Order: sequence, then structure tokens, then C-alpha cells
Amino acid sequence: MPELPEVETVRRGLTPVLEGARLSRVRINRPDLRFPFPGRFVERLEGATVLRIDRRAKYLLAPLSTGETWITHLGMTGRFTLDGTLLGEFEEAAPIAGKHEHFSGCAIRDGAATRVGYADARRFGFMGLISSDQIETHPWFAGLGPEPLGNGFSGAHLGEAFAGKKQNIKVSLLDQRIVAGLGNIYVCEALYRARISPLVAAGSVSKARLERLATEVRNVLNDAIAAGGSTLRDFANAEGGQGYFQHRFDVYGREGEPCRGENCTGVVARIVQGGRSTFYCPSCQKR
Ligand SMILES: [Zn+2]
Repeated sequence: MPELPEVETVRRGLTPVLEGARLSRVRINRPDLRFPFPGRFVERLEGATVLRIDRRAKYLLAPLSTGETWITHLGMTGRFTLDGTLLGEFEEAAPIAGKHEHFSGCAIRDGAATRVGYADARRFGFMGLISSDQIETHPWFAGLGPEPLGNGFSGAHLGEAFAGKKQNIKVSLLDQRIVAGLGNIYVCEALYRARISPLVAAGSVSKARLERLATEVRNVLNDAIAAGGSTLRDFANAEGGQGYFQHRFDVYGREGEPCRGENCTGVVARIVQGGRSTFYCPSCQKR
């Protein structure tokens, strides 16, 4: 499933093609993905110019010259292609079959057209069009916490959000009202890097350790974005290969394997918290 770094990598891949481009020949091949496409979706996109490509949490936002914003959520298997070339792939999967491409259009800029496709085999993704001045209050965005890579996210912010909280820090960090777009994998990785046990009560962690945690959240996301970016470049240059992100996780998915910490003889453990798997090293992350 694409997490924030993958969505950010897709945003960076789409930007040079879509920013400043006029949309034309837009087509959809069914009335819905996870949700129905908005009414007159094709007509509202046709002829509009994309001002830029933004990201909020795991949403891609394309503000348009028409005053509306075209929104895409990749769900679990959503992928964009540019002139048939895949923009990032999130799991080892068969090549996109034509029947899974549900959206296509042309981005026209400087007289050149690039074909933009969106495929989504499982259709957990969706697209929307929202008036650009109503994004903040729309149910998809209202109540979202600060972006983990933005200025509003810090140890001090976590300290305020966690004050008095008896819930464990792992589940608390997944709360989108506290920080937006942070998913299970990167919460596990950030807690490991910060040497904080996923079991401690969020409200019991010192300010200094929350500062360290905020730094490690940013580091782990930036590392993954950098890796995704390089994969994207390699992929664009490769001939016919099926590129996909090859993240190297320290704890995620490594149950029973040795901890990679220097001088640590611990073994990565898996527990379930809030219905989700938590991977951690009980030796390094004692409290
Ligand atoms: Zn360890």
C-alpha cells in the first residue's frame, strides 16, 4: 500500500508534466472507483490548466485554473502512468492490464502532449473535485493534524498532543488528527530509530525523547522519499523493467530476525496494537 513517501514520490513525478499543463481528452471507463466520480467529472477537467501538484497526507491535490482542485487518493493499488511508463510501483505485481486503467487524459504543455493514465486494480483509490477554497473544511481534510515534513510538526507539538494520554505511543502516532499521513510502517521505523518502546503511554514520554522522535519521523520519511526518487529515475531510464520501491526497513516485516542495532543481540518482535502489527526490538526499545 502506498504510504506518504510513495505518494510524495508520485507527486514529484507528476509535477514536471502536469504543472502548467492543460487537460484534454479526459476519459473514465466506469462510474466509480472506491467512490463515484463526481458529476460531470470529465467536463469539469477538460480544458482546465493544472496550477501545481500538492500533497496533503496521502492525497494528491491538483488545484486547477477553474477554481476547483482535482484530488486523487491512490488507495492500495492506484498507479499513474505517463506515456505508458509507470510512476512508481508499490508492490511486486503483474504489469497493469488495460482493463484496470480507469482514467486517462492528455496533459498539454508547450505544444507537447503527455498521456496520463491512472490504473487501480483493486479500486480502493478515488478521485474527487472540490472547490479550492473549501479544501480545509472538506471531510477528507478537516481535522487532519500537521504534515510530518511541515513546520507544524515538532517534539513540542507531540508533547501538546500527547499530554495526559494513557494510550500507547504507537497507536497515538497513527492518529491522523495528531500527525497526518503517517502509516504503520513508518511509525514502527521511527519508534525504533528513536529507541522508544511502542508500549509506553504517549503522555509519559519526556520532551527530549519526543524531540528525538519528531526528528526520526522526518528522517525515516525523507530517507524513503530519497530511495523512491532514485528508484523513479532508474525506472525512467530502464527499458521494459518493472520497477518498484525497495525499501530497507530496520524492523518492519522482520519478526524473528536479528536487530540491526550496533552491539544489540536482540531479536525483532511482532505484537498487535489497535489491530495493527507492531514490529520492534524489545532490547533497544525498552521504554
Ligand atoms: Zn535492538
